Amino acid sequence: MGGCQSHPSAADTQIVPQPSDVNKLGDNNNERVLEERPYLQQQYVSERITHTDMTALTSLPPGLDQAEWLASNTVAFFKHINLFSSALSELCTPTTCPTACGPDNTVYTWTDDQGKKLRCSAPLYFDYTMSYIQDLLTDEDVFPTRAGSVFPAGFVFLVKKVFLLLFRVLAHIYWRHYREALVLGLHPHLNTLFIHLTHFSLQHDLLEAEHTQPLQDLIIALGQHSLT
Ligand SMILES: [Zn+2]
Repeated sequence: MGGCQSHPSAADTQIVPQPSDVNKLGDNNNERVLEERPYLQQQYVSERITHTDMTALTSLPPGLDQAEWLASNTVAFFKHINLFSSALSELCTPTTCPTACGPDNTVYTWTDDQGKKLRCSAPLYFDYTMSYIQDLLTDEDVFPTRAGSVFPAGFVFLVKKVFLLLFRVLAHIYWRHYREALVLGLHPHLNTLFIHLTHFSLQHDLLEAEHTQPLQDLIIALGQHSLT
């Protein structure tokens, strides 16, 4: 997941419906689901690096500007997820991952700035993703860093787009590289990062339910655990 030369402007998905609701399945099917989705196994779901109160962590602190809060968190999530995907980049190649996929056989296709849809390998898709986000975050007109700067009118729309793309990076890791993350001992970090991202998104209305659906079972599993 390194650099790229393209400047894609949008992304799209193609979803092939698959059974995904663990609770509606019988024991045999449940075992099969857990084999396919080891990240739902209880011993892994419980693994975190912190049990911080995520609502308190993600809520807008009193007196802070919401756009500033969204901007600083967007930058932080990008840095963390970029670092995380870099750690797994040698395991995510055009051979291992010829399509950019997520749970439920979701296939992510990239739309370039001419509107052309590109069905590409996962490493190429995530190259596009990270380069696109990097360009946005370093654009002073979109993410101003100077004191007293005004955020542009479409700022929240762009933040939502960044969160969708970052969510897909994590969705691909859970779907295709979770066992490798286990071997490396990265799964507590992955869970914590995912919980933080989804809580922040929920708190600030950044991700649509249809986009998080492929990992809804994990969101529920992680949420249920935090309540016990
Ligand atoms: Zn991959």
